[in-house]
Amino acid sequence: MPAASLDQLVSLCKRRGFVFPGSEIYGGLANTWDYGPLGVELKNRVKNHWWKTFVHRRADMVGLDSSILMNRKVWEASGHISSFADAEVECKHCHQRFRGDKLLEEKLGTEPAAVLKLDQIQPMLMTEKICCLNCGKLQWTDARKFNLMFKTHQGVVEEEAALVYMRPETAQGIFVNFRNILDTMRMRLPFGVAQIGKAFRNEITPGNFTFRTREFEQMEIEYFIEPGTSEKFFDEWNEAVWKWYTDLGIGKDRLRVREHDKDELSHYSSRTIDIEYKFPWGWGELFGLANRGDFDFSQHQKFSGQDLAYTDPDDPKKKFLPHVIEPSFGCDRSILTFMLEAYTEEKVKDETRVVMKLSPEIAPVDIAILPLSKKEHLVAKAQELYKKIIHETGLVCDFDVTGSIGKRYRRQDEIGTPRCITVDFGTLGEDIAQGERDTVTIRDRDTLGQERVHIHQLTTHVHRR
Ligand code: ATP
Repeated sequence: MPAASLDQLVSLCKRRGFVFPGSEIYGGLANTWDYGPLGVELKNRVKNHWWKTFVHRRADMVGLDSSILMNRKVWEASGHISSFADAEVECKHCHQRFRGDKLLEEKLGTEPAAVLKLDQIQPMLMTEKICCLNCGKLQWTDARKFNLMFKTHQGVVEEEAALVYMRPETAQGIFVNFRNILDTMRMRLPFGVAQIGKAFRNEITPGNFTFRTREFEQMEIEYFIEPGTSEKFFDEWNEAVWKWYTDLGIGKDRLRVREHDKDELSHYSSRTIDIEYKFPWGWGELFGLANRGDFDFSQHQKFSGQDLAYTDPDDPKKKFLPHVIEPSFGCDRSILTFMLEAYTEEKVKDETRVVMKLSPEIAPVDIAILPLSKKEHLVAKAQELYKKIIHETGLVCDFDVTGSIGKRYRRQDEIGTPRCITVDFGTLGEDIAQGERDTVTIRDRDTLGQERVHIHQLTTHVHRR
């Protein structure tokens, strides 16, 4: 069973070094979170696994790392300056601001709220008697459009000409580099470009831990295809993404697909689906898949004056703007989902054991080496094995000597370490009751099963697993 409440997970993340509140010693900065030593390992593993799956293991994919700051015209062409806005309402009593559509969504269900026009939101909040979440009063202003892009200035003078935006998505960096990638990598349609990087959105109501923040990381793919072939590739990507999440341990019964209504579609999309996860507070978007058609290329061609058409290498008369299928993953939101799904409380001999059943592919630590006691010669033997495993396998190992063995097992369970290796007096040939000389105990996180393995077979044994 996944975590029953978000608080359980937030507390474990703080306690065990996964995620800390941002700027904490100064009283924090609302809705900012810092990944701690184990959080950054988990995050890197998720990103590497994603990259390996969608870039390295596919001949039709390449990667990119484009700038966060881009020419302003990019955002004019993409429609973000004119349309990347949410419906903001303000409580006239306490002046707290909220996303009007989200307030309605919570009461009415997703779809009706998403297709509402701006001027329908305030009257509907009043009719439905949806009060301010802060002060409980029912006094809403009219809804107005609030652009979500963060602004800053490039250079020393803060003048209009120096205005730049922090990118609100990584996708546009891919479109503006399409020509460069095509010319240098000799790619043929269909092919895709992947990018992982930070995005910034001045969200009106961030919250639910790392689910919605103003600075977050995306993992995005733009997949370029011939016009008229979108249906096939849309379905293929839907399947590939679904497989990625479920292979990494997300339960199918807590995932669902939500198809956007025609009225709800973004300005660039002819079809969008969200894969939603059942979070402790309800269903929420984990991932989006959109058919962007040739919207982006025709806009960038128009605004830049550059020819962005693709010419078929086998038929130079065949020249067209590629169509685009976009699988868009939230990195932080995916990590939150993996952690919620992995969080488990179970009864073991009348005690509650908290264990993070993370897939071994993404667990921050592969193996913990634990000397049974602090006796010097035992610790030295364990250290020798620790170095051997690191050098021979390249696995991430933790070495822990503090506290009782029970406490150390509990810590490793809470951080999701799949296996613990215990070095005891049997290993040294001093206590046959603990085990034979030169053998160690390997403990499995999920089954709690223990097996005795000879140290000469240790590296092949842990590698094989
Ligand atoms: P939402 O409806 O939740 O605001 P969205 O439809 O605006 O999301 P997209 O623009 O499709 O999101 O972005 C792709 C992915 O990026 C989302 O599926 C989500 O996982 C992630 N994402 C978007 N906004 C945020 C945010 N503020 N904080 C964390 N992750 C985000």
